[in-house]
Amino acid sequence: MPQKMIVDLRSDSVTKATPEMRRAMAEAAVGDDGREGDPTAQRLEKMGAEMVGHEAGLLCTSGTMANLVALMTHLRPGEEVIAERDSHFLRFEAGGLTAIAGGFPRPLPGSAGKMDLGQMESEIQPGSRLRPRSALICLENTHNMHGGACLDVEYMRAVWEVATRHGLAVHLDGERVFNAAIALGVPVRALTEGCQSVMFGLSKGLCAPYGSLLCGGVEFVGRARAMRHRLGGNVRQIGHMAAAGIVALETMVERLAEDHANARCLAEGIKGIHPELVDMGTCHTNIVSVDTTPLDRPAPAIVAALEEKGVRGLAIDPYRLRFVTHHDVTAAQMAHALNMIREVLGA
Ligand SMILES: *Cc1c(COP(=O)(O)O)cnc(C)c1O
Repeated sequence: MPQKMIVDLRSDSVTKATPEMRRAMAEAAVGDDGREGDPTAQRLEKMGAEMVGHEAGLLCTSGTMANLVALMTHLRPGEEVIAERDSHFLRFEAGGLTAIAGGFPRPLPGSAGKMDLGQMESEIQPGSRLRPRSALICLENTHNMHGGACLDVEYMRAVWEVATRHGLAVHLDGERVFNAAIALGVPVRALTEGCQSVMFGLSKGLCAPYGSLLCGGVEFVGRARAMRHRLGGNVRQIGHMAAAGIVALETMVERLAEDHANARCLAEGIKGIHPELVDMGTCHTNIVSVDTTPLDRPAPAIVAALEEKGVRGLAIDPYRLRFVTHHDVTAAQMAHALNMIREVLGA
């Protein structure tokens, strides 16, 4: 019996290392990253930092760790972090922010990933006996829970300007910042150079098996390295993993445009079923966010029905599900997925 086709569109985190990455991992020159250093990790860190317009980089195990290390490096206990309320680090990493970094979240509502600048500015606290200082603004580009929406260069610059005026640092959760750069048609550094720290993922759309890079100035990254050590994030022969990251940056960035085209195609198809299911205004990159309220059907039930047909999506809210396109889905699989989605949503 032929095997049932499974199309996994839950996340771009399901992507597997390419044959070229596997070869590079096997052959990598390695050292001890907890002693004199690992040459391949150093190459990756330098390369990644240059791409985002910063002096230095630090390879962390995951995006969660890179964000946490950044928070620990920027914040003193009790200080406030201003961030969009649906951002990944507030929704899924709040334990690290509060219990480990000792930060206090100041969530603001946003639209397509963007907080209102006036509101942002009015929330900034100089620090007093009654309320600790606001130390950091966190942005997310692309914005995961807002359908992969991009923050454009103009918005990034406006936030840098507000932060500079009030003496705050800006950290960018740029797990998918290369998706943003490709979609906007700008060099990635235009979105990152004015931030005091930037993290980006190697293991989502870029397909490496491991890691996110945290980049910033030499002094910041030196302190961040000590924070990574505190978390037990020092990995000895990390060069094997870093080697895959180098291949990811060399070979997987430009091709993100294919994922975006696939997502657009999927979104148009879903819109054909019912025009209010997808907001094309946020469908900039590789995420298709589907609002199931017009169908009057909860997202988990739809996800379960799709699973039966071999298509995996993710319910992210009671009435919202998402599909994420990535390298490991072929054109034939995309076509199959759209047919199955039409069957289930149109039922
Ligand atoms: C996946 C993700 C992270 C966390 O990365 P992990 O490597 O899974 O820990 C952080 N921020 C965003 C926006 C993400 O999508």
